[in-house]
Amino acid sequence: MIKIGQTAKLPLDLCRGNTIKRNQLAHRLNRKFFNKINKDFNTKDISPEIFEKRLCEITKNKIECTIADSSEQKYKGACRIFLDEDNQNEIAGFSLCIPLNKYDKKVALYDADIFMHESFHFFYEITNPKNLKRNLKAIENNLILKTEEFYKKYLYSKEKFDKKTLEKNILPNFLKTLSKPERIDFLQNSRYRLSEEMQAFKDGAKYYDKIQDNHLDLISEKIKTENGESYNFKKKINLLNRTLAKELQAQRNELKNIFMLK
Ligand SMILES: [Zn+2]
Repeated sequence: MIKIGQTAKLPLDLCRGNTIKRNQLAHRLNRKFFNKINKDFNTKDISPEIFEKRLCEITKNKIECTIADSSEQKYKGACRIFLDEDNQNEIAGFSLCIPLNKYDKKVALYDADIFMHESFHFFYEITNPKNLKRNLKAIENNLILKTEEFYKKYLYSKEKFDKKTLEKNILPNFLKTLSKPERIDFLQNSRYRLSEEMQAFKDGAKYYDKIQDNHLDLISEKIKTENGESYNFKKKINLLNRTLAKELQAQRNELKNIFMLK
């Protein structure tokens, strides 16, 4: 089992409390980061070194975080973990993959929606080590391998969806392909992941708007960005919650029946 090293999570006394408290902390740290980085934009772009420095300052340099270029990748951005060089069983820190300009490899103001989305993921991960552990477990026991295609097609997707068909047919049919513990894990992981994405998109859009307003002199026109609405996160999270409750109830009833037979 892969462990999360000290340089990849905040000290426990800083991120105690329930999910809501930890989410608030992640948003607070992201806001702090924005306030710093916002001032660094004297031109339309800043160096990745400054970006990295600001990110590390927020965690008082306790967390390892590096910047990588996502401009040649299929995805716009990502927040990835990296392992300790000497101990491949331990996570040493994070790598924030954000787009860098083609020519001078700098971080552009117009990419603020992406980098503020990814920085939210970073702060969310370091304040929610349990969440990271859950995701690692899903990779290690192959649950991700079995479910990722479905997750991307029906859940983390902008495609139009019919709530009824997804809830009554598509999802139940898919769950049948998984074992009982896998079903619970998949439903739980998915709702946490969607909730994290929903929050990342909100922050991305919010700060995209703000940074442009703050630097009207640097931009030619104000651009709007995806705020997550087209993914229907809320509806899908509710649907997952209902399905999870049903699944838990069914599994409990089954247990009861087994005991009654004895
Ligand atoms: Zn994301």
